[in-house]
Amino acid sequence: MMTRFDLHSHSTASDGTLAPAELVARAARAGVQVLALTDHDTTDGIAEACEAAQRHGLWLVAGVEISVTWKRRTVHIVGLGVDPERPELQAGLQRLREFRQWRAEEIGRRLAKHGIPGAWEGARRLATGAIVGRTHFARFLVENGHAGSVREVFGRFLVKNRPGHVAGRWASLEEAVGWIRAAGGQAVIAHPARYRLTATKLRELIGEFMACGGEALEVVSGSHSRDEVVAMAAKARAFRMLASAGSDYHGPENPWIELGRLPPLPAGCRPVWEGWEQPELREVAVC
Ligand code: AMP
Ligand code: MN
Ligand code: MN
Ligand code: MN
Repeated sequence: MMTRFDLHSHSTASDGTLAPAELVARAARAGVQVLALTDHDTTDGIAEACEAAQRHGLWLVAGVEISVTWKRRTVHIVGLGVDPERPELQAGLQRLREFRQWRAEEIGRRLAKHGIPGAWEGARRLATGAIVGRTHFARFLVENGHAGSVREVFGRFLVKNRPGHVAGRWASLEEAVGWIRAAGGQAVIAHPARYRLTATKLRELIGEFMACGGEALEVVSGSHSRDEVVAMAAKARAFRMLASAGSDYHGPENPWIELGRLPPLPAGCRPVWEGWEQPELREVAVC
C-alpha cells in the first residue's frame, strides 16, 4: 500500500545510489507527496533535493540520519525538519565525518592486512559525496569478486569480529538529539527493531532518548517485518511517542525496497507529521 509520506531516504550525498534530484523525481513518480532526505551524517544533498522538489510539486523535508554510539552499540537517530544552516548541527556532523574519514582508512588498512589491497581507494571512488561508508566498501568488494552480495560482505568482513570491522566512535545520544533540536527538528529513533535489543534495553534507550527531548519512533520502516511494525507500534503507544514511517531507500539496486511503498501506521499511532501544517502545534520547514 502507498503512503503519502516517506520520511527516511538516502542519496549519493551518503550511501544511496541516486543523486538527490533523481531520488526526488523517483519519489514523485512513486506517488510520494512528502519525502524526507535523511543522509548519514550530512545535509549536503538537501539543496539539490529542495530544488527538484519544487519542480516536481513534492514536499521535501530536510533531514539527516545521525550515527550514535550508545552502550557500545551503533544506533541511528533521524532528524526531521532540521535547518541545515544551524552551526551546532553542522559542527557535530563535521566531527562525525572526520571520524568516518579515519575509519575508512583504517578499514582499508585492516582489509589490506587480510589480503585485500586497494579497498579504501576503491570505496572512495564509489563514494561521490562527502562520506565514505561501509556500503561503499561492500560495493567495492562485490565488484572485485570477494563476495556475491553487499549483504554477504557485511556478514563476512564488516561486522564485529570480522577482519574489516572498526568500532564506531559516533555522537552520544544526547549530542545527536541536541543537534537536531538546536536545528529546530524532531528526533526519531530509526528502525528500532534492527538493533535486536532486549525489551529492557529498548526501554532504556527510549527513556534516555525522551529525556534528551527525542519525540518519535520509526514504527514503519523498510527494514521492519510486519510483526516488528506491530511490536514497535505498541512501544510507541506505551511510551507516548510519535510514530514515523520511512522506507530507508538506498537505490534501485535493492528492488525489495521502493520509495513510498510502506504499510500504513497501525491504529492508535500518532503520526510524527501530526501538526506539521498547524503552526500552533508545530510547523515543519519544507520546500
Ligand atoms: P556505516 O554508517 O558506514 O557504518 O554504514 C551503515 C550502513 O550500511 C547502513 O545504513 C546500511 O545502509 C548498510 N548496512 C548495514 N548493515 C548491512 C547489512 N547487513 N547488509 C547490507 N547493508 C548494510
Ligand atoms: Mn545506509
Ligand atoms: Mn540506519
Ligand atoms: Mn538510513
